[in-house]
Amino acid sequence: GGDEVLAQLREKLSPRGDLVSPRGRELTQAVFGKPLTPVEVVDTICRDVQAEGTTALLRYTSALDGADLSGETLRVPAADLAAAHAAADPDFLESVRRIRDNIIQFQTAIRHSDVSIEPRQGVRLTQRYVPLRRVGICVPGGAAAYPSTVLMTAVPAQVAGVDEIAVVAPPTPFGAYNNDMLATCHELGLREVYRCGGAQAVAAMAFGCDALPAVDKIVGPGNLFVALAKKQVFGTVDIDSFAGPSEVIVLADETANPAFVAADLLAQAEHSPGSAILITWHADLIEPVQTELRRQLADLQRSDLVRDALADFGALILVRDAEQACQLTDSFAPEHLHIETAAPDDLIAEIRNSGAAFLGHHTPVALGDYAAGPSHVLPTGGTCKWAEGLSVNSFLRSGSVTSFAPDATQAIAADVVRLAEKEGLTAHAKSVSVRGSVD
Ligand code: NAD
Repeated sequence: GGDEVLAQLREKLSPRGDLVSPRGRELTQAVFGKPLTPVEVVDTICRDVQAEGTTALLRYTSALDGADLSGETLRVPAADLAAAHAAADPDFLESVRRIRDNIIQFQTAIRHSDVSIEPRQGVRLTQRYVPLRRVGICVPGGAAAYPSTVLMTAVPAQVAGVDEIAVVAPPTPFGAYNNDMLATCHELGLREVYRCGGAQAVAAMAFGCDALPAVDKIVGPGNLFVALAKKQVFGTVDIDSFAGPSEVIVLADETANPAFVAADLLAQAEHSPGSAILITWHADLIEPVQTELRRQLADLQRSDLVRDALADFGALILVRDAEQACQLTDSFAPEHLHIETAAPDDLIAEIRNSGAAFLGHHTPVALGDYAAGPSHVLPTGGTCKWAEGLSVNSFLRSGSVTSFAPDATQAIAADVVRLAEKEGLTAHAKSVSVRGSVD
């Protein structure tokens, strides 16, 4: 019944209202005076920010995050960014620079470049790629600080050549008042950082206001309110994806090390909620993994959270063989896939759907979360069947460029005129025939 287990997990993991904590529901009641659903909350915030601009942005920042800011203090002063950088641990900054270089190297290599063909004499057809002018990056700050998210979103945008990058982070010790996050921004040359988060920050970036000019695309992770707000403003601006809780499928055979597998499942559960699923066809692996889970759990800083996440969103699934494991994985379409088998290349070739895949016993997902080069902002909830992770190419827009010499236009004219006349669009036909004789 592996497919049933996975279907249940998928259902549980869909970003819905019941993933909001009781504290979140109390906050909603206090701010709005009634028990609104998250969709209603986001709808109200977006509408208010669109209508009232900075006033509503500041009002919700005060009500939801307890920070009383003004149009001026909303933006982190350059001196604060520099001070955070000066105060940062030099080893941390060294790591940031090394990781930035890894990201630049990979993202530069995969950056789309213009493609031009000359299918016939006098005809030039080009697909060109231009960077977006201005983008907004959401850096979460409710429950933990994420300098890694700054790296994994801003550096691909910089490699694309985006002119302006605005960063928003909630005004919390984990967000816009977090020294490491601010130091990372400064190190990367990001100077436009705002102390706001949640749906109000997303709405401000989409509709623009005096204190926060509009962007063309909003990217980056966030909680349910951020995700719903991004979905809501899509169309006014572009967004990267509609992301829900994080998830991993680990595929393991008899060569897998139970201690490694358990560590990988716990790392994913630490996202809390994060779904950690082991699929194996080697029955003897299950018990040692369970033993390791218990042993390693005790040493974790957030062991209670991780235990709860494992209980709610974890699964150890025994399947018939590798083929069945691949089928199950493909239909679940996990955000992260980690293949811990003797020949992982053979298995990945059989699996179409995964946001990011990690191959081998020594490639934990955390390498990708923090340092390898591909971005850690990935499609969740099965959406990798049609969506892809953030990359340099998410910050490029392509457009075609067509150029015909006179003879080439003559050569194609009859086909254009014939189709245009069939459609009754005679002005279209004339715009071609006026350029020379067409039989
Ligand atoms: P967050 O910054 O996304 O959200 C905090 C904001 O939510 C607050 O500023 C507040 O404005 C708003 N909010 C909270 N409760 C609300 C309520 N009841 N009504 C209206 N607004 C409310 O930070 P977070 O909560 O820490 O969530 C971050 C999420 O992003 C986590 O789930 C984390 O796992 C995920 N994440 C994912 C990645 C990735 O790349 N996949 C990376 C980092 C973080």
